[in-house]
Amino acid sequence: MTQKHLSKYLDKLPSAFYVTSSYTNYYSKRTTRALFKKPIHSGMDMYLIFAALFGLVLGSFYSVCVSRYGTDNTIFKPARSFCPQCDHQLTILENIPLISFLIQKGRCSLCKARIPIFYPLIELTSMFWAVLAATHATTYVEWVVLLAIGGICIVASAIDLRTFLLPDILTYSGAAIVLVASYAGILHVDFMQSLLGAGIGAFALWAVSALYKLIRKINGMGLGDVKFMLMLGALTGIGHLSIFIFLASVLALIFCIISTRGKAGMSRVYIPFGPFLASGALITYLYGDQIASFIR
Ligand SMILES: [Zn+2]
Repeated sequence: MTQKHLSKYLDKLPSAFYVTSSYTNYYSKRTTRALFKKPIHSGMDMYLIFAALFGLVLGSFYSVCVSRYGTDNTIFKPARSFCPQCDHQLTILENIPLISFLIQKGRCSLCKARIPIFYPLIELTSMFWAVLAATHATTYVEWVVLLAIGGICIVASAIDLRTFLLPDILTYSGAAIVLVASYAGILHVDFMQSLLGAGIGAFALWAVSALYKLIRKINGMGLGDVKFMLMLGALTGIGHLSIFIFLASVLALIFCIISTRGKAGMSRVYIPFGPFLASGALITYLYGDQIASFIR
């Protein structure tokens, strides 16, 4: 693709530069943002390529975090990744995010054991999020904060899928990051909106799970989801909370229908809700204004 083609394509992206006027007005109030303004056209392609590569590297780190959660290993020890089957320590060439997986056709170079597709998918998701966040963020600072938020969402969701647990360290630190960033005016959600979104979102989810427990006498939802909601409700704000919960529920329902292939007994399937909450909230943060104006 030539540079001309790419910039033509970028013009069509529903990026933050073209969205609703309320959004633009909100930003124009914050003149300090000009200090960190992103290049809008010139240099945008290089920025997106950098975002993709950086997202891949971060994704590689995330998959290490996920694979080592709940084991005797820590994130930094052992320093180099290894094959869980034969303990073969990966060389630098075997450790390139995504590329190594493709070259080795998804197998360990020594014992030929299959590498779960789950891990390159984490890297791919991280790359996708880094690029998407780059096209939407109006400042570099917002992009960096969105990378941190997306990273916590990806790692928490992957751990939830693997273990049905959402670690407190991720959910609580995520909530702190979002609230501090919205207070500092880095995110395009007002601080009071954020605070109410966190409180009411978490309370609503807790009330639903308490009611479910009362009626069905079993735990329907973990407390981890309620804690995760503190972070995600703060990200979308109270104004877009209903859009967020609707999206998360629809995504979870689609997953349920596909995974049970529409068979009976769906009420007894236990699914990790974290990944759907996270994707619902991230989509709402990026497209909430457009979805809201579409509904009206
Ligand atoms: Zn091996």
